[in-house]
Amino acid sequence: MQFIVLQTDVANGAESFFDSPWWNFTTLMTKAVLVALWLALVFWTYKDAKRRISDPLMIGIAVATSFIFPYLGTLFYAILRPPEYLEDVQERELEIQARQMEMGGLASRCPACQAPVRDDYLLCPNCRHALKVACGGCGKPLNPAWRACPFCATDVSAPAGGKAEEEKIFP
Ligand SMILES: [Zn+2]
Ligand SMILES: [Zn+2]
Repeated sequence: MQFIVLQTDVANGAESFFDSPWWNFTTLMTKAVLVALWLALVFWTYKDAKRRISDPLMIGIAVATSFIFPYLGTLFYAILRPPEYLEDVQERELEIQARQMEMGGLASRCPACQAPVRDDYLLCPNCRHALKVACGGCGKPLNPAWRACPFCATDVSAPAGGKAEEEKIFP
């Protein structure tokens, strides 16, 4: 320490200061830290790209960019990388698939041809079998057994068929 003080005291001007062992040590440490940071960023790029990109070639390009252009390459990767993790994309696709299957299971089937039909269809799009009757008041699809429209309270004449059964359920 005394040596450094002595040397800086003796030396006139910045040139000798930059030759001092203290300065050499500082630049060496700074370089070491910068190199370590650069390699850490390359490693981070590899780890992150592996979770977001399925194509090994694209992962290679991302890591190479991060390696060839220290710091900036990693920055560009961070901007351009896919926004989602692969596992999240997969999970969402599975969820959508499950929901679609669930909806498929809930949908009614045409009593004539068993084709899947929605509850608000008036007739089967496959075999033209009448499923519902349109309300004379509001046009909403009604169960043929209903005597009044639940949406607009219009009276609709119930067919003679399911009348007795319906009176038992709704006295
Ligand atoms: Zn049908
Ligand atoms: Zn109605």
